[in-house]
Amino acid sequence: MEEFDIAIIGGGPAGIMAAIAASADLNIVLLEKNSSLGSKLLITGGGRCNITNEKPIKKLLNSFHDKNFLKHSFYTFTNEMLLDLFRNRGLDFIVEDNNRVFPETEKSQDILAILKYYLKDITIKYNYEVSDIKKEDNFIINNDIIAEKVIIATGGATFPKTGSTGDGYYLTGNPITDIKYGLVPLITKKDLSDIAGITLYDVVIKYKT
Ligand SMILES: Cc1cc2nc3c(=O)[nH]c(=O)nc-3n(C[C@H](O)[C@H](O)[C@H](O)COP(=O)(O)OP(=O)(O)OC[C@H]3O[C@@H](n4cnc5c(N)ncnc54)[C@H](O)[C@@H]3O)c2cc1C
Repeated sequence: MEEFDIAIIGGGPAGIMAAIAASADLNIVLLEKNSSLGSKLLITGGGRCNITNEKPIKKLLNSFHDKNFLKHSFYTFTNEMLLDLFRNRGLDFIVEDNNRVFPETEKSQDILAILKYYLKDITIKYNYEVSDIKKEDNFIINNDIIAEKVIIATGGATFPKTGSTGDGYYLTGNPITDIKYGLVPLITKKDLSDIAGITLYDVVIKYKT
């Protein structure tokens, strides 16, 4: 069995950032079930990647229900600190309506390429699907890897073809909370393509199933 200090499960933005943030002195492995990292990241913002919002943190927090839960993380690693990671590698940003920030190249691949640069000293195992985690003195993954700590960053369950099939909800044996939808597409019987692009605020939808 191979031994590591930390095993990170899932090579999406969360797993990648966890690997980058972990101390350089630690022996880390990033386990990704796809043959590449960041499949969902590549389709974000219609392939342009709306990476963050440039509002000051205090205002940004006002957009969320549970401000107290997020406050520490938002101030520890701010939107500006995130953007600097990329600016330091030569990628700048543009700001669009509602303070939304996109890479100036408008290509999510450019974001992923820089994240991969920062992972250059991390062991990455591709095509590695974690299906079993046991806890003894350390964690044992798939009877194959021993790790002192495990970070589960397997994402949600939307767009399963990107690899995000909700495995993290069950990997520990206990679903953490009830799963609720955040943002969903609506499929209508009538073709509404002629009104595409119109944004409506504070809309209530009633529907029959
Ligand atoms: C169409 C679309 C557009 C979006 N646009 C934006 C946007 O513009 N801006 C924005 O901020 N957010 C956007 N989002 C949301 C954003 O994509 C997610 O919040 C983000 O990808 C979550 O990152 P994550 O690392 O938590 O999970 P994911 O990106 O889902 O990554 C999880 C990774 O874990 C891997 N994995 C899963 N199970 C296992 C396993 N058992 N073993 C090993 N590996 C496993 C998966 O293959 C995947 O690579 C969008 C989402 C969608 C679907």
